[in-house]
Amino acid sequence: MSNPPSKVDALLAEAQQRRESSYREKALKMYPWICGRCGREFSGKRLSELTVHHRDHNHDNNPEDGSNWELLCLYCHDNEHQRQVDAHYQGNDAGAGQGAKVKHKALAGLAELLQKKS
Ligand SMILES: [Zn+2]
Ligand SMILES: [Zn+2]
Repeated sequence: MSNPPSKVDALLAEAQQRRESSYREKALKMYPWICGRCGREFSGKRLSELTVHHRDHNHDNNPEDGSNWELLCLYCHDNEHQRQVDAHYQGNDAGAGQGAKVKHKALAGLAELLQKKS
């Protein structure tokens, strides 16, 4: 670690940011300012909570017709990526057991509760 902080890294980060803001602007011009999941509308300052999601999760895939973009609010965007993570773990033998067990337990508890109520 004798190298000084790289200027190239800073330039790349800046270029990345500029590119992101340009496709965000395009997407905002193209689509109504509504979250594609929960249907909330955004305007003014709150527009910053509306983010551009890449349908194929490839941030470098930015076709001019906007077909890879979807406007999602911060929360739905988080959920969208969380689902991808879940799917990833379910397909992963090492992590699957634990995750499945916890989920199963929670569901069993819920079933118990429901039975007690009825
Ligand atoms: Zn939303
Ligand atoms: Zn996304």
